[in-house]
Amino acid sequence: MTAPTELDEHALEANWKRFQDRARRVTRTAINRGILVRPCRCQKCGKLPSPRKDGKSAIQCHHPDYSDPLHVEWLCSPCHRAVTPVSRHGLGSMPGSSNSQAKLTEQAVSDIRKTYEQGVNGYRRLARQYGVSIPVIKRVVNGRGWTHVE
Ligand SMILES: [Zn+2]
Repeated sequence: MTAPTELDEHALEANWKRFQDRARRVTRTAINRGILVRPCRCQKCGKLPSPRKDGKSAIQCHHPDYSDPLHVEWLCSPCHRAVTPVSRHGLGSMPGSSNSQAKLTEQAVSDIRKTYEQGVNGYRRLARQYGVSIPVIKRVVNGRGWTHVE
């Protein structure tokens, strides 16, 4: 089996969405069956957020890895926003994300550049990790996009 080329990008992206949907389904079922229990506190900052207006818990379920749907982190919404690329949750716009490159948070952009410079991950792995396409990563790394981010 050969490594996927950039032509497979759309397939990868579609795959990733399927993964994500599946993970969410599995998690919902696990919660309904009591396999996963939603805690009251955020696992990251330890805050106890007040429930949302619709009565649902304000603690959100974060999947660090969609291929492992039962491995979840329970986060308050500020922490969740901080760890998740904007595009994944369709959250409102942030500075620098009001155009076609609007899939990454500024934090993510600066992390990607650092990771790439250290030679830890190549374009493909970064793209997968951040849920964006390879050309987006290239633009970020080459500094042609997101030039306002240090
Ligand atoms: Zn938190």
